[in-house]
Amino acid sequence: MIDAKALHVSIGAIRVLYGVNLQVEAGELVAVVGANGAGKTTLLRALSGLLAASSGEVHFAGGRVDGMPAHHRARAGLVHVPQGRQVIPALTVEENLLIGAEQLTVMSRAQRLSGLAAEYERFPVLCERRDVLAGALSGGEQQMLAISRGLMMQPKLLMLDEPSLGLAPRIVEHILNALRTLADQGVAVLLVEQAALGALKIADRGLVLRGGHCVLEGSGEQLLKDPALVKGFLG
Ligand code: ATP
Repeated sequence: MIDAKALHVSIGAIRVLYGVNLQVEAGELVAVVGANGAGKTTLLRALSGLLAASSGEVHFAGGRVDGMPAHHRARAGLVHVPQGRQVIPALTVEENLLIGAEQLTVMSRAQRLSGLAAEYERFPVLCERRDVLAGALSGGEQQMLAISRGLMMQPKLLMLDEPSLGLAPRIVEHILNALRTLADQGVAVLLVEQAALGALKIADRGLVLRGGHCVLEGSGEQLLKDPALVKGFLG
């Protein structure tokens, strides 16, 4: 679904990514793990078009998208759920979800309603709290809302930046299971996490970033058994 080749990214004078290659197929969940400052967020921002790569190529759903503005990439199905949730606190849960849908101008009322029903089934707590202001939700509920808002755009690829950040282990497990189910339903999922263990457990493949370089790659299972990874990241 996405194929990034030799992606180099600089922020101002600072080089952040050095020739990163990454592929995610439909139905596959790929985890990008790495320590603080490794370049994970920069990678997602370059893929979604929020940052311009200095060189390299990004192919998405059969077409080349580097050079295309972020909102065009999102409409084509490349959806980014940024770090920090970024729900709109003064709008209700349902209004936040409908804003996700409205990014797609071609969506009919029936499609919006079926999107809402699907998200309320995925995260029943959002249905219970549909009329509550997003700012009054717990951190875990806000993360679920951010994911569901992205899914209202019917992504072909959903990219998530540290969805587990600051959440209780039980909520993290619930969210990771929902992402695994999503991949099993055919969506390509790219998950960026500092909490490597949980992400690699549900991933088909994993990639370790260090200092802007991809230093290890393998199946989630292989990486979890890799002594270098365990020593460097998992303790
Ligand atoms: P974290 O888990 O802390 O978000 P990360 O792996 O996502 O880390 P990035 O946020 O991509 O890492 O940052 C990678 C490097 O780029 C870091 O060294 C960071 O200091 C630098 N960097 C990121 N954004 C900027 C910026 N706006 N200006 C200057 N340097 C930046």
